[in-house]
Amino acid sequence: MSDCILCKIAKGEIPSKTIYEDNQFKVFLDIFPGSKGHTLIIPKQHVANIFELDEETAGELFKIATKVAKGMKKVLGFEGMNIVQNNGEIAGQTIFHFHLHLIPRYKDDQVSIKWEPKEADQAVLQELRDALVEGLK
Ligand code: AMP
Ligand code: ZN
Repeated sequence: MSDCILCKIAKGEIPSKTIYEDNQFKVFLDIFPGSKGHTLIIPKQHVANIFELDEETAGELFKIATKVAKGMKKVLGFEGMNIVQNNGEIAGQTIFHFHLHLIPRYKDDQVSIKWEPKEADQAVLQELRDALVEGLK
């Protein structure tokens, strides 16, 4: 993916404030942070989204996310953290190379991650559950 900005960051062709890097992953500060310390974790290999990500890479990536989140908490002392990962334009993805957002949360910050909860019909939930279980086989 020669024109992918995150591939370029992965290769060091575009500078980034990198806080962790190994053969497979890079962790760096978001340049338009939602809050102080907003960080992105990417696999260096180009995959567009979670639907293209293999489970082993996902597992390794989340191990790093856990380690980085704990380190960030120690340094920044925030109260909480949202982990966000957008897949597809409709879901808010703007860069089509998989990335996990670690967004520290502070009292009175301007971060908003919201949806409108609606009461679900039990029969509809059951039907959905059955279809999803079948789909996982
Ligand atoms: P998303 O909307 O989930 O696709 O998130 C893309 C994120 O990449 C946004 O939070 C941007 O601020 C961030 N971003 C874009 N360009 C850069 C860059 N050169 N370095 C670091 N973060 C970037
Ligand atoms: Zn890429």
